[in-house]
Amino acid sequence: MEGDDFDYGKYHTLEEINDWVQSMAMKYKTITTIFNITNSYEGRPLLGLKISSQSEIERKGFWLEGGIHSREWIAPATVIYMAGYILDHYNSDPEMMALLDMFDWYIVPVVNPDGYEYTWSKDRMWRKTRSRHGACIGVDPNRNWDMEWCKSGASKDPCSDEYCGPFAFSEVEVKGVADYIMTQTKNITGFIDFHSYSQLWMSPWGYTKELPTDFKQQDEGGMEACAALERVNGTKYEHGSIANIIYIASGSSADWTYAKAGIKYSYGVELRDTGKYGFLLPADQIIPSGQETLQGIVALAKYIYNNK
Ligand SMILES: [Zn+2]
Repeated sequence: MEGDDFDYGKYHTLEEINDWVQSMAMKYKTITTIFNITNSYEGRPLLGLKISSQSEIERKGFWLEGGIHSREWIAPATVIYMAGYILDHYNSDPEMMALLDMFDWYIVPVVNPDGYEYTWSKDRMWRKTRSRHGACIGVDPNRNWDMEWCKSGASKDPCSDEYCGPFAFSEVEVKGVADYIMTQTKNITGFIDFHSYSQLWMSPWGYTKELPTDFKQQDEGGMEACAALERVNGTKYEHGSIANIIYIASGSSADWTYAKAGIKYSYGVELRDTGKYGFLLPADQIIPSGQETLQGIVALAKYIYNNK
């Protein structure tokens, strides 16, 4: 599939998404590189796209990922829309140009390829990976990170949707992303793991209601993002720490990237909606979600750039 034929207003299969990654890398080969983080438990590629302007200025990295929870289809769709928009407009839209001047962008649309494939072929509401560790299939990949792993807000029951796994980083997809981030760790200063739904821009901690030392700046960045996002379509987001704004969850991505990889501006973002459609968000909301979230990213990137 050519990048030009890709319909950003529809949900896409894993195969279509991977084709899109390849075609964008071909079309914009001077500023993009594909990276294959690992193969999934069932052997599917876990692809990412790095977008980096050719200018010589040294830049920090900014990581955007979606699809860690497979049924949250708006997350990959929004990440793809934003990356596509940045690439199609980096020469014509000053704000996109500014994004590439400030940061190198690491885009990973589908962190949990096996789960995502399963939501298309068998069970639309599947959330976990598809690994086999016990009586039931799959681990919650956002309870599997090696930071206060399985202390609270996670389950040791393999049949639970919040199963933390037999040990931290048991999931090849989670371990793969963490290892990859560690190789770039000096470089990356912004990280967002996109989820749905609830319309929340959340910073650490997830494992405790106590707030980290950088909370004020992390939350200010979130506040800037929410304000810019709301200006596009009037969509209201709230910001705050994960444990305080949604629920306690240990072993989540943003806690690990902040505490262990030293990424000060680490977030988990819950995209549209607030429950009317929930995980089954109609496709006609993809582009509005992409447009507003991208403005949130523009505002947050500026904030981080000025408050390193
Ligand atoms: Zn989620």
